[in-house]
Amino acid sequence: MADLNIPAAPAIEGTTHVHSGKVRDLYRIDSGEHQGRLLMVASDRISAYDYVLDSTIPDKGEILTRMSLWWFGQLADLADNHVVSTDVPAQVAGRAVICESLDMFPVECVARGYLTGSGLIDYRRTGEVCGIALPPGLEDASRLPEPIFTPASKAELGDHDENVSYDAVVATIGETTAAQLRRLTLEVYGRAEAIARERGIILADTKLEFGRRPDGTTVLADEVLTPDSSRYWPAAEWQPGRAQRSFDKQVVRDWLTGPDSGWDRTDGTPPPALPAEVVELTRGRYVEAYERLTGERF
Ligand code: ATP
Ligand code: MG
Repeated sequence: MADLNIPAAPAIEGTTHVHSGKVRDLYRIDSGEHQGRLLMVASDRISAYDYVLDSTIPDKGEILTRMSLWWFGQLADLADNHVVSTDVPAQVAGRAVICESLDMFPVECVARGYLTGSGLIDYRRTGEVCGIALPPGLEDASRLPEPIFTPASKAELGDHDENVSYDAVVATIGETTAAQLRRLTLEVYGRAEAIARERGIILADTKLEFGRRPDGTTVLADEVLTPDSSRYWPAAEWQPGRAQRSFDKQVVRDWLTGPDSGWDRTDGTPPPALPAEVVELTRGRYVEAYERLTGERF
């Protein structure tokens, strides 16, 4: 496992820390009204090139939490979601949600409307993504004939998720549930892609996670449609055949790989801290993404 540089999660009274990812910290609530539920906290951490950077982006945790909540609202008629309350401890106010503790399906439910990233790599090698044959001649950022469900198996922290076929999902969770997750994933993508497009933003792909309640119902969980779980591109700049500019992290990537950072991506050293102006520009990109998508002021 790679050294991800994840800082120790701060203690939160009345909870037990259970997990930290690159960006979020997860706690179990010990007692009271929400006993047994989860507190999902979004930090201001940012990752790039598989490293959690030493710099944080002020307000990022709050922006992404609000964005995810806004999207859950937009999707409410398509799927139940795991959010129970936003009345969270003061220490994490605005950037945490209390959610149902679900039995998570071990599948990263990815929908793609455009070809890039691991999908592009697989396509170039095999002409397929997750067993779905695609027409010849597609290039980086090509729009697909129709959105496709390209599931991945959840990797250990620090490893990359591995694309799998739909049949592999059926073998893991059964045909009925696999079909349900595929349908829900494509419905969510279709809804979100249309909303984003109206606002001049392309939703190239997105990753969803679903879990099961004790009563057997399927629930949309994790975070949804944040820039950390989705690829958003400015529609005005979309041009297949090259890498697209990322809505949120382009300033960070450009600085890290440019001459001023002094960082060598290839020699295994972690990237340096970001200068204040790169932090500020990046914060502005998250605010802009939030405001353009939701139509609300941050
Ligand atoms: P990465 O930083 O690469 O995303 P990660 O997935 O391990 O790594 P997080 O995304 O922060 O890190 O972890 C959140 C964890 O919580 C995931 O394992 C996710 O499946 C799980 N999860 C999300 N919603 C729920 C829920 N309602 N009940 C139980 N587990 C959940
Ligand atoms: Mg995750």
